[in-house]
Amino acid sequence: MKEEIQRAEKLKTLGEVAASIAHEIRNPLTVVQGFLQLMSATIVEGKNRNYLEIALDELARAELIITDYLNFSKPKLTKIEKFSLSDLIENITILLTPLASYKGIQFDSQVEQQIYMHTDRGQLQQALVNVIKNAVEASTEKAVVQIKLALKSDRVELKIIDKGKGMTPEEIQRIGTLFYTTKESGTGLGTSVAVRFIEAMKGSIIYESEKGKGTVCTISFPLELQNSF
Ligand code: ADP
Ligand code: MG
Repeated sequence: MKEEIQRAEKLKTLGEVAASIAHEIRNPLTVVQGFLQLMSATIVEGKNRNYLEIALDELARAELIITDYLNFSKPKLTKIEKFSLSDLIENITILLTPLASYKGIQFDSQVEQQIYMHTDRGQLQQALVNVIKNAVEASTEKAVVQIKLALKSDRVELKIIDKGKGMTPEEIQRIGTLFYTTKESGTGLGTSVAVRFIEAMKGSIIYESEKGKGTVCTISFPLELQNSF
């Protein structure tokens, strides 16, 4: 119990430091990005054009990392509202279409019925985006990522299923640990953010996976969060 409290304290401090640094760094980055974009309007081709593109790509990556950090350090459930989880899932698949179609991946959403939630929509979206993004990234080209939403007797259940590279039992143990990543340009923050948000919503997130076969991520919420109008 004591250890748990200390861990929580550490994460809080880390979160606060990360947030302030991220804010400070974001401003000059935005300025640099703006000037590079101005330059890229005049430099149409050649070596310098390539350099500019690399610089802009790397800036976009830095921006992504900062967003991940800021998400991680956000206070719990800031804006509670009622919304359709089914609509949220549809929005997320639209949001992730550019990433998915880049690898020829399709989403197969099976939404049994309209399910409403009463929680922080933005944070739930961020959590689900992170999990679904990982499913896409783990998948081979032209694969299908399934998203199933169902109302069980005592909970709302969402399954994200991929037939991608899967994980060993050791890898499953480490998923969701801060900064754990096996990707060359990963941050190891995505699932940490997802776990943190989902647990704050009294939900649970479970990974079942087999190396080389694929992964099933099951996210569920108690029915108190579900509100049918
Ligand atoms: P990142 O995506 O930046 O690596 P995450 O926290 O989102 O960080 O994920 C941590 C690690 O968990 C990934 O690097 C990957 O090894 C593993 N992982 C997460 N989701 C899946 C999945 N669906 N299939 C296989 N591995 C996964
Ligand atoms: Mg990720």
